Amino acid sequence: MARARLGDDGGYHGDLPCRWCDTLIDQAGRRRPRLYCRTSHRWKTYGARVAAVVGGMF
Ligand SMILES: [Zn+2]
Repeated sequence: MARARLGDDGGYHGDLPCRWCDTLIDQAGRRRPRLYCRTSHRWKTYGARVAAVVGGMF
């Protein structure tokens, strides 16, 4: 699924899909892959996980 690969320079090259909306994100040689196209999508994913954990308690 992941289209980006780790290059010889230690950075990621290619695109990775946002974990929330699947928008492809150009990694542009970053050393840490970007997993979300925007900060709000990181929080949405985090909030969904918290809701799932809380929901699983009841
Ligand atoms: Zn997104």
